[in-house]
Amino acid sequence: MNLEPVVMPARKNIALVAHDNRKVEMLDWASWNRQILARHDLFATGTTGALLEAELSLPVTRFKSGPLGGDQQIGAAIADGRIDFVVFLWDPLEAHSHDVDVKALLRIAAVYNIPIACTRSSADFMITSQFMSAEYVRLVFAYDSVIGSPDDEMAR
Ligand code: PGA
Repeated sequence: MNLEPVVMPARKNIALVAHDNRKVEMLDWASWNRQILARHDLFATGTTGALLEAELSLPVTRFKSGPLGGDQQIGAAIADGRIDFVVFLWDPLEAHSHDVDVKALLRIAAVYNIPIACTRSSADFMITSQFMSAEYVRLVFAYDSVIGSPDDEMAR
């Protein structure tokens, strides 16, 4: 399998998403880690982002609300190399209309070898990692070398 290095900068683009039953937990976690989060650029789904902006007094770039496509937008941003790190507090006790989007986001994060925390404890471990304040090189499947790049397709 071909892998290619992708450099994540010291200042990272962090995406934060919390389902309704976990929003309080997200706000509490983010307040606790505000100093670290302030050194990075924050992104979030609509409602989570509005709550975080008010709680942290930090700018948060907001995508659409999760059920309206926000999870998919974050997935697309990961595929485009615009998100480096995700905290996704999804609700393990309730079904949601956008469950397929939740699964898609988890899958695309795995495809691009993105650090993604789905529990508060894993978020604590990850945010205190030495790699949060340094460049980190993650290895990503080099799909283009297997299936050809879109440019190759155009040339045919
Ligand atoms: P929200 O979306 O931040 O707009 O509530 C989160 C989600 O349900 O995925």
